[in-house]
Amino acid sequence: MLQAEKKRIYLSAPHMSGNEQKYIQEAFETNWIAPLGPNVDEFEKAIAETVGVNDAAAVSSGTAAIHLALQLLGVQQGDSVFCSTLTFVASANPIRYMNAEPVFIDSEPDTWNMSPKALSRALQEAKEKEKMPKAVIVVNLYGQSAKMDEIMQLCNQYGVPVIEDAAESLGSYYKGKASGTFGAFGVYSFNGNKIITTSGGGMLISNDTEAIQKARFLSTQARDEAVHYEHSQMGYNYRMSNILAGIGRAQLEVLQDRVEKKRAIFDRYTDALTDISSVTFMPELKETYSNRWLTVITVDEERAGVSVSDIITYLDRENIEARPVWKPLHMQPVFKGCTYYTHEENRDFSETLFRTGICLPSGTGMLDEEQQRVISSLLHVLAVPV
Ligand SMILES: *Cc1c(COP(=O)(O)O)cnc(C)c1O
Repeated sequence: MLQAEKKRIYLSAPHMSGNEQKYIQEAFETNWIAPLGPNVDEFEKAIAETVGVNDAAAVSSGTAAIHLALQLLGVQQGDSVFCSTLTFVASANPIRYMNAEPVFIDSEPDTWNMSPKALSRALQEAKEKEKMPKAVIVVNLYGQSAKMDEIMQLCNQYGVPVIEDAAESLGSYYKGKASGTFGAFGVYSFNGNKIITTSGGGMLISNDTEAIQKARFLSTQARDEAVHYEHSQMGYNYRMSNILAGIGRAQLEVLQDRVEKKRAIFDRYTDALTDISSVTFMPELKETYSNRWLTVITVDEERAGVSVSDIITYLDRENIEARPVWKPLHMQPVFKGCTYYTHEENRDFSETLFRTGICLPSGTGMLDEEQQRVISSLLHVLAVPV
């Protein structure tokens, strides 16, 4: 087949259910073309019910939801906020919006998420220095829950509230409890690449209904009750549009189906690559259920005889999108100079994952023969006879 004829296979493309138009149509017919309306209300209710929390506020992005959570927790200029280092930059940018300082926490091998050991050392030192963080942002990478028992126990012990960045883990569970529901606040994203999408959007969830009510207030320019537009505090324009919430309602109806599809994609990769000793798959912690948003492998370059970047380049030439694991935030120029706590003293884990990890195409709309093409290309570049 000619190169040009091969359709590009993406990491995680949007996958519509077919029902979205119905809710969008309703919005048009009733003229609710605004960042409020029945789709917004219903989408919020449906998310809260699905994950089992008291309330949810639909906003314009997951990043906005994190920003609001920090605001609601009273983070101020000069405060410190702990954050997982192995994540997308959006987890930590809102810390800087508040003129606060991020402190980055390494990953651990069982989940690739926040290391309780590193967190424990960071909290202990913060206490000694009498500079406790105002919040801990814990990320559930690629759908895998962090070690929430250990992390919640530590944060409760030191009295620090947790924001669970579950942008990638809607539909995942930790010991039977929905991912995103452990901390004071949880955050979901409906960006185009996430497990379900509104094309762009996010949700702030909590059992604290008063706080969520406040989030709605802050996300609509903090308008006090008055006909003449009275404002006694600074607000944001962060509310989700009623059109996009319509897409979200239809997408949420197929969430479980999408999770099962993602897990089947993972299983197909593991079956096909099981005998390749240079390849290891991202683990799933016991008693957790990952939505497997992306299938991620690590490659032992020496055994494979080919580098991670050469593998990614090869796949790209085959018109297959693959990417490295997130570059740890403590390595990012924008966060240069920030404090960082490694998993073990003098031994880092996230940088190893960054150097060896590859995210594979995991879109739920991907056809079986397309995944087979990815697998064949992988076997080829790893020099395994097919
Ligand atoms: C996508 C993502 C976000 C940000 O969500 P947006 O809706 O794109 O603003 C935050 N954290 C993580 C881990 C993400 O993957």
